[in-house]
Amino acid sequence: MIFIKTPQEIEEFKVAGSLSKAVLRRAGRMVRPGVTTREIDQVVESFIRLHGATPGFKGLYGFPASICSSVNEEIVHGIPSERVLVDGDIISIDTGATIGGWVGDNAWTFYVGTPSAEWQGLCEVTLDCLKAGIAQAVPGNHIGDIGFAVQSLAERHGYGVVREYVGHGVGHVMHEDPNVPNFGKRGRGVRLQVGMVLAIEPMITLGTYKNHTLANGWTVVTNDGSPAAHYENTVAITKDGPVILTQDSEGPWCPFQGGV
Ligand code: MG
Repeated sequence: MIFIKTPQEIEEFKVAGSLSKAVLRRAGRMVRPGVTTREIDQVVESFIRLHGATPGFKGLYGFPASICSSVNEEIVHGIPSERVLVDGDIISIDTGATIGGWVGDNAWTFYVGTPSAEWQGLCEVTLDCLKAGIAQAVPGNHIGDIGFAVQSLAERHGYGVVREYVGHGVGHVMHEDPNVPNFGKRGRGVRLQVGMVLAIEPMITLGTYKNHTLANGWTVVTNDGSPAAHYENTVAITKDGPVILTQDSEGPWCPFQGGV
């Protein structure tokens, strides 16, 4: 069932969205060679609770942490650990906060030191895919228009589009209907209406999009070991077009570079 939000509810939702972006920025400022993903998670959890919110991910389906930290060939759902980030890595951090009854959900792939030009290009294009998807989030379009925009841009660059993990509706809980795939056909799927709130989140790979889950039951990695990038915002569909709810005073985007 798709829950339609009123204009008043969307205003309230912005509190959770703004905090979720601040949380993601806080995480990104910690990203540098020598830090562990667990250290980032601990700081993020404290930051969320300090602001009177609860982590959107901790305990969700049993997930053990406040961030998903997915390094290099890890696509999504990486578990924070003693893994030390090294120069040239990329790390996707997916995090969000629940406050005022609404859940913010956003993700960003940061550079650890200086990744290769090839890996940076993957990140830049994946962010462009997110922007292209958001541009389609207007009343009267369909879910397939979002997926088509993401997929066609990624594949034009020869990248892989992950099929198994998709965006979603978001509201009082993290995952609501409808699913928002990063692939699709124009004009297909659910018709977009004013008041829908969607987490749009392309997951794009440098090589194959085929993937598997590690023995820990969470971490999803590419089958060929190629890196993946992941960018996400929570977006409201309004009569005036898409409104990104996960934005703070600095806007809806983070720097690519970690540690700044
Ligand atoms: Mg999401």
